[in-house]
Amino acid sequence: MANQYAVIGLGRFGINIANKLFESGQDVLGIDVNEERVDEAQSYVTHAVIADSTDAEAMKTIGIRNFDTVIVAIGNDIQASILSVLLLKEMGVPKVIAKALNKLHGQVLEKVGADWVVYPERDMGIRVAHQLLSPNVLNFIEISKDYSVEEVKIPNSMIDKTLREIDLRAKFNISVIAIRHNHDIHITPSPDKLLDKGDVLVVIGKNRDLERFANLD
Ligand code: ADP
Repeated sequence: MANQYAVIGLGRFGINIANKLFESGQDVLGIDVNEERVDEAQSYVTHAVIADSTDAEAMKTIGIRNFDTVIVAIGNDIQASILSVLLLKEMGVPKVIAKALNKLHGQVLEKVGADWVVYPERDMGIRVAHQLLSPNVLNFIEISKDYSVEEVKIPNSMIDKTLREIDLRAKFNISVIAIRHNHDIHITPSPDKLLDKGDVLVVIGKNRDLERFANLD
């Protein structure tokens, strides 16, 4: 069954979340104080309404507490974002996700009850820097402060070698969990599999070990 989502603030960040959920078959209510934004959003969400999320009565009328997840994607108005999260949690919304502009804003959002605080600018900035420093890394997920899973293009020196020969476990202390070639994925690959030009290894390990591996020529 589709989940019920509401997205408050239909700027670039909010509308992209809302539309992705909607395209995936979820029920999405878009909410914004700005009539133009609401009109523009109509074809990207299940339904869009004009309302102020700091107005308790308006949120009650919408029946906001019946939504499983509410995303507060308000842009620069920090006060409105904090007040909205507080109100939504007081009304009993099970999961409230909120966008923070900076660390202090994020700390306050957590204090007033946000279940998940996201920092899109910070995270994207880190991602871009990471990509510049390690061009072979196509994608990564941080598992903790020290460990990540990364997709790394194999260096030319590893073409036509087997996983056994390159022995990443001994040399770099990292494990290969899959090999991707274009859209084909081999999970738990055999140690005798020959690596091909264009192969991408999905590896897990400590960040500094992954970095050593990703910077090989
Ligand atoms: P972005 O960087 O995501 O584009 P914007 O500042 O352009 O951010 O968008 C934030 C949206 O949030 C705006 O469309 C604004 O009208 C909306 N918004 C701001 N305050 C409220 C509020 N209290 N209730 C509902 N929507 C709000």
